[in-house]
Amino acid sequence: KLITFEGIDGSGKSTMLALLRENAGLKNLGEIAFTREPTQNTLTGKAVYAAIECDVDPMAELFLFMADHAAHVAETVRPNIAAGKIVISDRYSDSRCAYQGATLDKTIPNALSFVKNLHAGWTIVPDLTFIFDLAPKDSVERVKNRGEKTKFEKIEFLTRVRENFMTLAKAEPERFVILDAKLPPAENEKIIVEKIKSIL
Ligand code: C5P
Repeated sequence: KLITFEGIDGSGKSTMLALLRENAGLKNLGEIAFTREPTQNTLTGKAVYAAIECDVDPMAELFLFMADHAAHVAETVRPNIAAGKIVISDRYSDSRCAYQGATLDKTIPNALSFVKNLHAGWTIVPDLTFIFDLAPKDSVERVKNRGEKTKFEKIEFLTRVRENFMTLAKAEPERFVILDAKLPPAENEKIIVEKIKSIL
């Protein structure tokens, strides 16, 4: 099974994944491989992080993200699923649809569908996707407090990313669970573990 975590910056994904790594109820369900996109310390991941830091052309950036996704699926996701593990990914294809759908929406018509269609037929579709939903103004506040600065912090941009996540969720309601990122982490953790149990 493949389970993915999505949401705008500062929505609490990474904090939750740290909690889930230690969650006894989850450990009992089987062997879990935790992973993430963009990938870390890889050729493609490094290219993506370098692109995020500068103003690369949005279409060029999309294909760097796609290359990183292809490497991630081939080298990590597919082998772990084949080995019978539960794979949990911090960001996956829906982040690309939502973020690059937003960076490209002034360049091409129907950018969200365009990015979504690039995944069709070859990637592994998640069995379950959690979206940590947060108002962009709260996202910007949280990210500011971490001292991070990227071009993705802008409220107007994050509003479009958030809308894209909601559009994706509406199209496949059976795959998505939308979580309120302002709830205490322990509450969301309970909801997540129950939901994961229900699909295994
Ligand atoms: O998950 P993490 O916060 O480390 O992501 C790194 C950065 O990449 C974030 O600023 C995020 O907004 C951005 N990102 C992106 N497009 C994606 C995935 C992440 O712009 N598809």
